[in-house]
Amino acid sequence: MIPTEIVLSSGSYAQIASELSERLGSPGISHLQLAHHLALTVSIQQENTDLVILKELIPNPCPICHHRLTFLRETIERFENEGSCSIRCPMGHRYQGELKVYYLNIFEENDIELEKPVKKCPDCGSKNIQYLGPKVMFCLDCDWDSGMEPRYQIHR
Ligand SMILES: [Zn+2]
Ligand SMILES: [Zn+2]
Repeated sequence: MIPTEIVLSSGSYAQIASELSERLGSPGISHLQLAHHLALTVSIQQENTDLVILKELIPNPCPICHHRLTFLRETIERFENEGSCSIRCPMGHRYQGELKVYYLNIFEENDIELEKPVKKCPDCGSKNIQYLGPKVMFCLDCDWDSGMEPRYQIHR
């Protein structure tokens, strides 16, 4: 399961943008800069909730060779674009699969400035850890996350 998109209320968006502009010492922050900062696609909605959209391909690992899928972001993107419901594993097998989409509430503790308890990914050792909240984080280089538990699941 990997986070792919963040949906913010306009209030949270403004707050994050102003914090970021303060940190960078720049008067205005573009939508693109904010998306780059969070390493996710960002959209704004009217409702007063902040969500992360997480996606997962199943089955994973590959039922034929039992290798786990790699390059999950790209693999999910390809799966969505092709619309053929077929997943390609790292060894080149194609099998029928399904994309699951989850929504996760974030920023509940309303405090994004924090000390960062995890600096290194426990799975791949990467230092590219992205924080979405005090205890919500994920690795940008593999599919590790801090045990994000989706509240509800959206079926497509
Ligand atoms: Zn395979
Ligand atoms: Zn990792």
